Amino acid sequence: MRTIGGVALAIFDLDNTLIDRAAAFRRWAAAYVAERGLPPAETAWLERADGDGYTPRARLLAAIRERHGVHKTVEALRAELVANIEPDPRLPGLLDDLRSAGWRVAVATNGATAQQHAKLRHTGLAAHVDAVAVSEEVGADKPDLRMFTTAAERCGERLTGETWMVGDCPVRDIAGARSAGLRTIWLSRGRAWDPAQPPPDAVAGDITAAFPLIGAALGPVPR
Ligand SMILES: [Mg+2]
Repeated sequence: MRTIGGVALAIFDLDNTLIDRAAAFRRWAAAYVAERGLPPAETAWLERADGDGYTPRARLLAAIRERHGVHKTVEALRAELVANIEPDPRLPGLLDDLRSAGWRVAVATNGATAQQHAKLRHTGLAAHVDAVAVSEEVGADKPDLRMFTTAAERCGERLTGETWMVGDCPVRDIAGARSAGLRTIWLSRGRAWDPAQPPPDAVAGDITAAFPLIGAALGPVPR
């Protein structure tokens, strides 16, 4: 990353960016299936039903109840999912290095406030970022501009063309940040970028590969 004289701002998505939520759900699903003696293929069904976390929890639990006869509360499911998140041991150091180089670091995440903060505490990441904005308490979901401005304000900063957004969702993270005039790094997670959409400034295969790209010298922000 570039070392800078003043303060710059990097905003990170949380699910499937700073934490591997998909892997946590897969671990949870495998344990759930094993505990109940269900066929192993039910793990794949659960992953499809989860919709990468975008299926509303109540709807997911209703589908599970219908298919397996298992009653579970949203709170219980959320707690079990957090317990299955395995922190990436490299991240605290990478975030600290970024902050030592003069960057403020914010998290902007769509989701339930208590759940997203529980993830940050469980992984220890809460101590390595300057600010957190969760859509439930902000009152708007990414790609809404308010999520990005709130993250910046909580760092005592404003959004500029030197603000970077790192995230895995082409719409919520990348298109949203682009609309806000930010620089963007897309975590591809093995996916190809839709050529019909304006591309991100940079692409990283995983979160550790994103850090060296933050602050990379680039031309003017495309308008
Ligand atoms: Mg995400």
